[in-house]
Amino acid sequence: MTEVGTMHVHCPDCGTPVPMALHTKGMTSQGNVLQLVVEPDYTDLWAHSWTHEHP
Ligand SMILES: [Zn+2]
Repeated sequence: MTEVGTMHVHCPDCGTPVPMALHTKGMTSQGNVLQLVVEPDYTDLWAHSWTHEHP
C-alpha cells in the first residue's frame, strides 16, 4: 500500500486533532472518471485513545 496523504480527525473524547495516514487501496472507474480508493490508517487514533484509558 502507498501512503498518499494525511488527514486529521478530531478525537471524540478530547477534541485533539489526530493525524491519520491515508493509504491507497485501489482505483475504481465510473464512466470516464477515475477514482482513487483510499483507506485511513487508524493506528494513530487507537494509540491516542489508548492514552485516555491509561493516563
Ligand atoms: Zn483524545
